[in-house]
Amino acid sequence: MKTFKNALVILAGGTGKRFKNKMPKQFNEINGENLIDFFLNRIDTNIFDLILIVTKKSNIKHTKHLLTKFPLLKFIYAEAGKNRQLSSLNALKKLKRYNPKNVLIHDSARPFCSQKLIAKILKSLNKNISAIPYILSPDKKVISKKEFNKKIKLIQTPQGFNYNAIFKAHVSTKLFNAKDDSELLSEKELNFIKGEKLNIKITYPEDLNFFKLFLKPIFKSGIGYDIHRIDIKTKKGLKLCGVNINFNKLIGHSDADVGIHAICDSIFGALSMNDIGYYFSNTNPKWKNKNSEHFLKFARDKLKENNFFIANLDINFICEKPNISKYRKEMISNLSSLLKIPKKIISIKATSNEKIGFIGDGLGIAAESIVQITNEKLY
Ligand code: ZN
Repeated sequence: MKTFKNALVILAGGTGKRFKNKMPKQFNEINGENLIDFFLNRIDTNIFDLILIVTKKSNIKHTKHLLTKFPLLKFIYAEAGKNRQLSSLNALKKLKRYNPKNVLIHDSARPFCSQKLIAKILKSLNKNISAIPYILSPDKKVISKKEFNKKIKLIQTPQGFNYNAIFKAHVSTKLFNAKDDSELLSEKELNFIKGEKLNIKITYPEDLNFFKLFLKPIFKSGIGYDIHRIDIKTKKGLKLCGVNINFNKLIGHSDADVGIHAICDSIFGALSMNDIGYYFSNTNPKWKNKNSEHFLKFARDKLKENNFFIANLDINFICEKPNISKYRKEMISNLSSLLKIPKKIISIKATSNEKIGFIGDGLGIAAESIVQITNEKLY
């Protein structure tokens, strides 16, 4: 039979009374992760042979995705008890047949516990019956003159135990509503180790804001390039970045706004989508002479759907004529209102092709665009 060295118990039986919505707080999702995901994603789960989640039967569905997310881990479940002590006891009973050497009992409401603390607890269990993390409170509670200089210690989870010792303590205790497992141990079995200030407990809805401190912003970039031939038979009708310019128009299925097409492709690229032709085929009569602003709004909606914001947008035109700098301001202003982004993060530049090749001969206009997008709104 496989020997189980380390088991992790996650107590997730709470009903979240302090949270207004019906979903218990441990299953609230922030950026696609609930509190349990958040915790497990940031620790080395491989050091546990077994993870036991204690929750109400009706809430098991909120943890089922963990089985596919961590396919190498063994997950089991125990039913939540009427109070925390009984939930722990149910977990320990369930673990009996696996007989682990160590068990870490953790509250799902403390998702910020680091791998460093877990490693410290396990190391301490090599020599001790228990490893109970604590922090010193910066506040002092004055009870009497004698107490005045005593620093308040606050107990955290995960608390590590020798499995047999904590199981015995639970079975033989006279307490019936202990607020944590260390309360059940005898003085000589207690071993305190330094906890972590950031290992806070999510208690009130506003505590969820702490997640923002832990979430790293995601940045992605995309590149776009487009070129259209100049219709030399015309004298006007050119449109670049939505701005009408008194110059020969470009040939294309839509309004041939080469600038907007390049921008769209860069946004699609940053979102790992297909190119503009995939969504707006140049053989589809629906897009014949279509105002390209429509395509740009589609790209903007895709950013919104995926919860991304533009961090900056850099567009480069390559042409001999017209003189882009004359229209720069107007283009930036137009893009700013179409994309709903500040003007200061848009750059429009232009270069000639030094009279070389197709563009150099004044037969076409090309545009390239690079966009950076982020999941955190910077403005
Ligand atoms: Zn185009």
